[in-house]
Amino acid sequence: RLYNEVQELKGNIRVYCRIRPFLPGQNSRQTTIEYTGENGELVVANPFKQGKDTHRLFKFNKVFGQAATQEEVFLDTRPLIRSILDGYNVCIFAYGQTGSGKTYTMSGPSISSKEDWGVNYRALNDLFHLTQIRQNTMVYEVGVQMVEIYNEQVRDILSDGGIWNTALPNGLAVPDASMHSVRSTEDVLELMNIGLMNRTVGATALNERSSRSHCVLSVHVRGVDVETDSVLRGSLHLVDLAGSERVDRSEATGERLKEAQHINKSLSALGDVIFALAHKNPHVPYRNSKLTQVLQSSLGGQAKTLMFVQVNPDGDSYAETVSTLKFAERVS
Ligand code: ADP
Ligand code: MG
Repeated sequence: RLYNEVQELKGNIRVYCRIRPFLPGQNSRQTTIEYTGENGELVVANPFKQGKDTHRLFKFNKVFGQAATQEEVFLDTRPLIRSILDGYNVCIFAYGQTGSGKTYTMSGPSISSKEDWGVNYRALNDLFHLTQIRQNTMVYEVGVQMVEIYNEQVRDILSDGGIWNTALPNGLAVPDASMHSVRSTEDVLELMNIGLMNRTVGATALNERSSRSHCVLSVHVRGVDVETDSVLRGSLHLVDLAGSERVDRSEATGERLKEAQHINKSLSALGDVIFALAHKNPHVPYRNSKLTQVLQSSLGGQAKTLMFVQVNPDGDSYAETVSTLKFAERVS
C-alpha cells in the first residue's frame, strides 16, 4: 500500500545464504566455497574427494560472500521491515552450525559501533524512523517480548527487567511472555541487554547455552489512524536459532544428548512448517515443537519469512555446510 518495495518481494519465503569469512588465526584455510554468483548461486566443493561428484550447486534468493558488510546484508532486508507498517508479520531467522555467524548477522559482534550493527538493530532503527515519518495521522505503539526456548521450554527473559504491560493487546503476542512498551531503538537495546543477561543465568558459559537454545525477539506494532480510528497491526520476529550441528550420538550422553535431541526436533519442525507454507500445503504442522508453536501466528497467512543460512567456508566444516545448505534448499 505505502511502499513499492513490498511488491518487489515475490513469494513470502526468501532464503539468503551468508558465508562467514575465515577468522584471524584460523589455521585451516582450505575453502569449500568454490563459486558464488550474483544470482544467488553457490558451488560447494568437497575438499576430501577427487574425481567425480565433488561439486554441488545450490541456489537461493541471494548469496552474501565473505566480504559482504552488515550494511549490504541489511539493504536486502529493509523492504521487509517496511512491510510491517503495512500490517504484515515478518519473521527473520538465522540458521547454521555454531560459529557460522548467526549472532553476527542478527545482532553483530558488538553494539558500540553502528557499522557493526546486525539486522536486529538496523531493523528497529528503521522501524522507529518510519513510525516517526508516518506520524501525521497515525499513532504507533510498539511492544517488545523476548523469550528463550531451551529443551522445549519457553522462558521469558525479560520478566524481571521491566513492567508487565497489558496496554498492548495483540493476538500475535507470544502467550504468557511479558510485553514491554518501547519508544526508541535505545529502549529496545536496553531490554535486549537485560534479556541477554538473563539468558546466561544458570548456564555454565554464555556460548554453551546460547548455542543450544533459540532466542526469539518479538516486536509488535499497533498503529491507530486518529482520523478514521482504523487499527493496523504488524509484527517482527527476530530469531537466533540454536546451532544446527549434529551431535555424535556415540559421544553425547545425558544432558548433552537431551539438548541435541530437542534442537534436532525443533529445527526439523521449523523446516517442515516452512516447507508446508512454501508449497501451500493445507496442513501446516505447527504443533510439533515449542518453536513453531510460539511462532505459529506469525508464520503463514499474511506473513513474510526470511531465513539467513549461515555457513563456514573452511574444509573442516564441509559436512555441516552441505547439511545446512540442504536444509535451506528444501525450504526455499
Ligand atoms: P554463531 O552465532 O552462529 O555461533 P557467531 O555469530 O558467534 O556464530 O560467529 C562466530 C565468530 O565469527 C565470531 O567471532 C564472529 O564475530 C565471527 N564472524 C561471524 N560472521 C562474521 C562476519 N561476517 N565477518 C566477520 N566476523 C564474523
Ligand atoms: Mg550465536
